[in-house]
Amino acid sequence: MSTGKIDPQFDPRRFVKTPVGWYALTREPYDLGPFPTKPEAFTALNAHIRLHAGLNRRNPDDRFTGFSVHDAGTCAKNNCGRCAEALEFPVVPAIA
Ligand SMILES: [Zn+2]
Repeated sequence: MSTGKIDPQFDPRRFVKTPVGWYALTREPYDLGPFPTKPEAFTALNAHIRLHAGLNRRNPDDRFTGFSVHDAGTCAKNNCGRCAEALEFPVVPAIA
């Protein structure tokens, strides 16, 4: 039976720590963050999901897997946690 209550058990992989703070990853064209602490990112994601509940018509089986290849060079997100995370690993030019 569905109570309409949103389960706050998020996949821990939705939270990424970056050099500029914590991000909560979303399936929207933007991620949430940066936040100084993980609990703040958690709170923001909870509010985000409540806001979008019922608005999305996604397949419920289309779940966040936490795994993807991310190219910051072609990323179309406005505020991307994965791109922020990549700041921690600066690209070192290969020596020719
Ligand atoms: Zn990105």
